[in-house]
Amino acid sequence: MRRPVPTSGSRSCVATPEIVRACRGAASIEPVSLLLLVDLDGVVYRGTEPVPGVARVLADRADLGDDVVYVTNNSMHYGADYQARLAGMGAPVSPRTVVSSARATAAYLREHDPGIRRVLVLGAAGLERELRDEGYDVVTAGAAATRAAQEGLDGFAAAGRPDAVVVGLDPNLTYLRLAVASDCIRAGAHFIATNRDPVYPTERGVRPGAGSLVIALETATGVVPVSIGKPAPYLLEAAAAAVGRSAAEAVMIGDNLATDLAGARAVGARSVVMLTGVTTLAEVEALPPDARPTAVAADADELAAVLARL
Ligand SMILES: [Mg+2]
Repeated sequence: MRRPVPTSGSRSCVATPEIVRACRGAASIEPVSLLLLVDLDGVVYRGTEPVPGVARVLADRADLGDDVVYVTNNSMHYGADYQARLAGMGAPVSPRTVVSSARATAAYLREHDPGIRRVLVLGAAGLERELRDEGYDVVTAGAAATRAAQEGLDGFAAAGRPDAVVVGLDPNLTYLRLAVASDCIRAGAHFIATNRDPVYPTERGVRPGAGSLVIALETATGVVPVSIGKPAPYLLEAAAAAVGRSAAEAVMIGDNLATDLAGARAVGARSVVMLTGVTTLAEVEALPPDARPTAVAADADELAAVLARL
């Protein structure tokens, strides 16, 4: 739903300078609903806890007609799982408005690599499922590693000669899984990374992220993958396309300068940096003037005020 767009009737445009200016202004007004691309961890919730008030602010914006799409570099979970969690918090959400790096990777393959049929997945169950939903013949690195060990095969043969290797964070990573993925990339399979986040924050501290696995494979194969998640443009483009809009008209709301802010800049979008996650005000203020976000918000109330001004 869009908010009403002001229109001007030509009959009212008589030639006084004030009215001419007003009519020109009205004629150039675009649809005023915002496209909000909203990062999850550090913005809508922190770990298992909601960030107070943010779901309510987003629900209010959706009631005003804004498009709200959630974007996350996390590749481990299935879209419907996010949807249930966000709905439970009172955030406005539908099946198409959660775009993880796993879903964006599946969409990217479909759009950019139409020849791909079989995909080796080094990652978690949510990534496998998003790729199966898109129609791919998914072989897990775990299954291929078992077969390689039992039958004495190289990884490419054990995986059934896949066309592509998709790498996300695999919480059950083993050396043999890594070796299978490396074999397939060396044999010529396309190498796609869901994201290159170096670390993954957990309740027990900061752990290696998907990017740490990607670097291992890059080092082993000499092949640099296409990366889908922020700060690359593909995730934000897929999220905007999910509601029929373009990423350049978005307002990216995120807590991470290296991914959310840089990703917004990469697609020409505006940005709001939330101080509810990994970034401090001092870090934002230390940015060179041309690299700063459109706005900074310390909490949900400030976010609501910032969005009302955009
Ligand atoms: Mg975040």
